[in-house]
Amino acid sequence: GIAAENISKGFGNFQAVDRVNLEIAQGSLIALLGPSGSGKSTLLRLISGLETPDEGRLWLAGKDATTQSVRERNIGFVFQNYALFKHLTIGQNIAFGLEIRSISASKVKKKVAELLDLIQLSGLGNRYPAQLSGGQRQRVALARALAIEPKILLLDEPFGALDARVRKDLRAWLRQLHERSRVTTVFVTHDRSDAMEVADKIVIMNKGRIEQIGTPAEIYNRPANAFVMGFVGPVN
Ligand code: ATP
Ligand code: MG
Repeated sequence: GIAAENISKGFGNFQAVDRVNLEIAQGSLIALLGPSGSGKSTLLRLISGLETPDEGRLWLAGKDATTQSVRERNIGFVFQNYALFKHLTIGQNIAFGLEIRSISASKVKKKVAELLDLIQLSGLGNRYPAQLSGGQRQRVALARALAIEPKILLLDEPFGALDARVRKDLRAWLRQLHERSRVTTVFVTHDRSDAMEVADKIVIMNKGRIEQIGTPAEIYNRPANAFVMGFVGPVN
């Protein structure tokens, strides 16, 4: 799992993440939900190792990861507007992380085939990203992240920039993927329906702090404060 202990990150004198404490059980599917600028992406980047905390500690799989490099953390990530390589085929895109880890060609081939099957795009490995739909491309980005067999999968706005129908399909698909892979997954969204329909637990962020952590039902039925109520609670 993941544990953040009093973790903070500021830019200038602005606290993007402000003394956050968070525990995420291994194998769970968590949504980080909050308005724009609430610190969701920064928290995800801190977990990934792309940002270093000013204060606090981070534990991954029981180990102190505070000073571990991105590579050592063995995390798969798909970031906001994270485009696929246009000049590489789908198969080559998925293989990318494996090739830079110098894994043998036969293993890479096998792994790519498995992942294409997992994302239900078998047979499309030789296509280029431009020849896929937005939802299919997003699934390829997920497969690429899963290729390195990460212990943790971090997704920043995985449903962003997709139309409502594709978004709905992809939500269901992410749940299925999680049920099959059981990789600890944290996804960021500012859309409460994404969080409510997909996550086991929701972490509500506001101004760099956590307002509430709970199951979708807990958050909806017993919002901890006025902010949570306003953000996810019943409209009337
Ligand atoms: P969104 O939903 O818009 O993606 P977010 O919740 O992901 O928002 P963050 O990207 O974590 O928010 O940003 C939190 C705050 O920190 C914002 O006010 C942002 O402007 C600021 N911030 C983030 N990264 C930097 C940076 N590299 N330099 C300066 N300020 C930053
Ligand atoms: Mg963001």
